[in-house]
Amino acid sequence: MSICVNFNEAPFLGSEFEHIKNAIDSKHISGGGKYTKLCNEILEQTGAKKAMLTHSCTAALEMSALLLNIEPGDEVILPSYTFSSTASAFALRGAKLVFVDIKNDTLNLDENLIEQAITKKTRAIIPVHYAGVSCEMSGIWEIANKYKIAVVEDAAQALGSYYREKPCGNLGDLGCYSFHETKNISCGEGGALLINREDYIEQAEIILEKGTDRSKFFRGQVDKYTWVSLGSSYLPSDMLAAYLYPQLQNIEKINGQRMELWNDYHKNFEDLDVKRPFIPAHCKHNAHMYYLRFNSLKVRSKFIEFMRAKGIMCIFHYVPLHSSPAGKKYGRVAGSMENTDNVSNTLVRLPLFYGMSKEAQNKITEFARNFLAEL
Ligand SMILES: *Cc1c(COP(=O)(O)O)cnc(C)c1O
Repeated sequence: MSICVNFNEAPFLGSEFEHIKNAIDSKHISGGGKYTKLCNEILEQTGAKKAMLTHSCTAALEMSALLLNIEPGDEVILPSYTFSSTASAFALRGAKLVFVDIKNDTLNLDENLIEQAITKKTRAIIPVHYAGVSCEMSGIWEIANKYKIAVVEDAAQALGSYYREKPCGNLGDLGCYSFHETKNISCGEGGALLINREDYIEQAEIILEKGTDRSKFFRGQVDKYTWVSLGSSYLPSDMLAAYLYPQLQNIEKINGQRMELWNDYHKNFEDLDVKRPFIPAHCKHNAHMYYLRFNSLKVRSKFIEFMRAKGIMCIFHYVPLHSSPAGKKYGRVAGSMENTDNVSNTLVRLPLFYGMSKEAQNKITEFARNFLAEL
């Protein structure tokens, strides 16, 4: 029997239609409307001083770079094993990217390697919570406090994840979420900026409002609004917020179902000679991703081919930024990139999405076990 399993399918509950209709009926579908506010309220339950819905995580990262007033010559520290946006948002402001290796267990930025990468020009550290597993934040905070530099979380994959009971996204000065189709909670294209420091709020509102003090005008604090500093267009339409809202309300349900699938994978590969994800005891993850790690690029390529022939889409992940054309132009490495290079060559992601059937998962584990048994 043949089966066809996509790598990912966009999460969808059904109630999105009703909310989109409401948004349209309200005759207000531009950004900042009723649904945008409702979504922001839910996101502020993380403890953020302010949440701002954006049209992407990329936008939230770009807002962060503007908020921190990153200037040409400034340096930011980030992993090389991440998506281009983590880097591009800061390079756009002229920052030099300083790549630091990841840990071999969680595949997150190695907090023990950050200090050797610090210079007088370092302005920020950008931890990425890979696969929705939190970075080791206490080590990162320690260095950030010592050198008085900012922490911007790329929490694109980590909505609903925790570090020592505290939500990812609320662990840095600023936190960035993604609601792209590939993420647990999604409206196709979307994101949010979490502002965890009171003193950033006013400037963030200006950046969000195309560089104007329009927010103050709406609150009656000024009697006309004007262009006051650099900003851009970062709001999503309220129709997209309406699509997102029921999913945010049902995050437990969506992440809960993903967790069942994740746990099943994890149990099913326990006895085999393959590396599985590692979750530190003090980190609660959101089942964003299930991956396996093989011993070589060759075996991984064979696995992907083997599964594709069975109708199952398994996909590798990041090509390291430090060896990419733009990464070389805008960045430099600080130390060895051994783990980054190794993980990039050997990791493969298995299908995992809301609505994936148990039957499909059983087939995937059966085929993957067959492949591993024959190695
Ligand atoms: C998905 C992702 C992004 C980009 O998110 P968009 O909402 O598509 O802009 C950035 N960083 C990481 C780590 C991601 O996984």
